[in-house]
Amino acid sequence: MKSLKTFLTLISIFIGTIVNAQSYNNFYGDIVNNYSSDTIHKYLVEFENLGIKEHGTPALQNTLDWLVEKYTNYGYSDIEIDTFNYAAQDDYNLIITKQGSVYPNTYVIIDGHYDTRSGTGTNDNGTGTAIIMEVARLLENITTEYSIKFIHFSGEEDGLIGSTNYVNNVVLPTNMDIKIVFNIDEVGGVNGLTNNTIVCERDQSNPSVANASSYAYTDTLANCIELYSTLMTEISYAYSSDYMPFQAQEKVITGLYEKNESTHAHTPSDSLGNMDTNYVYEITQGTIGASLYFAVAHEFPIGISDLDPNNQTIKIYPNPTQKELTIHLNKLETQNSTILITNILGETVLQKEVENKLERLNLGFLASGIYSVTIHSPNFRFTEKLIVQ
Ligand SMILES: [Zn+2]
Repeated sequence: MKSLKTFLTLISIFIGTIVNAQSYNNFYGDIVNNYSSDTIHKYLVEFENLGIKEHGTPALQNTLDWLVEKYTNYGYSDIEIDTFNYAAQDDYNLIITKQGSVYPNTYVIIDGHYDTRSGTGTNDNGTGTAIIMEVARLLENITTEYSIKFIHFSGEEDGLIGSTNYVNNVVLPTNMDIKIVFNIDEVGGVNGLTNNTIVCERDQSNPSVANASSYAYTDTLANCIELYSTLMTEISYAYSSDYMPFQAQEKVITGLYEKNESTHAHTPSDSLGNMDTNYVYEITQGTIGASLYFAVAHEFPIGISDLDPNNQTIKIYPNPTQKELTIHLNKLETQNSTILITNILGETVLQKEVENKLERLNLGFLASGIYSVTIHSPNFRFTEKLIVQ
């Protein structure tokens, strides 16, 4: 549901240098590189074949059923249907939750709408729908520190009805702790044009409470896309999609939108033949990299891995701490182990080789907040949430 972009892109800002840029992660890179474009193409064909998904149509219901079947097959069990009433008829958002290992009550929301207007909506928003499905499929067996909610909204084309309902009736009453809302809407590009750039969108609105965080996450998103795909990025502002109700409540948001704007959106010709599936594949790769980063994915399960022959116990205290932190590495081979403390953005704030079985750290330089302490060697990884007061 985007229509103003060409005019408004005039004030968009190109990325220069990125502050605090993260570096390429081999584990994330392997996940991105070890999948083919076949699945994303197949999903787009299936989405197109489901027909015109407008409010109250069997096609919309069939698409919901199709999504539920896919997530069930991936192995997800926490699948919720959020019902809302609009124009005297029920509509349904679909929410799939993946439990985080360190911050189970803090959510990375990856969302996009599955309803369409006047056509099959293969670009708007079959592309976002298929990409979210691919991220979910590939992350199902991977440990992430943060919980993830994969949300397929309905009623977007009728005026952000589904996402507004979700924010008002679920997010606000439960005081949901959201790390980032990552919205994907219409990223298919234009067949025949060079589709080599993706627009990363951020909160430039008033009130400006969440602007700085949104800028930081959007820079991170752009950086991940450049690390894990061949695409270039451009920064612009968020508008007219399902992140808006979250943004209005000062939640931190970011999003993706195509650089070459399709003229087929909301028409019967919004079809696979008029977009660029290779572009969607590249965006999927970048999105997977960014999602792994936002949710802080690990190669090893959190805790002591099976590779470790000693059943050692690592103690981190006091927690919460104000300044001093002691890490007790009982029976642990200290050689080749590293202590890593990261902030809620996933940025490293302290890195240190393990020298002693009793490591004492001075954390007086850290701002109050939630951090993650990781001790890792080539054979194991241990992570614990740390609160600095
Ligand atoms: Zn859309």
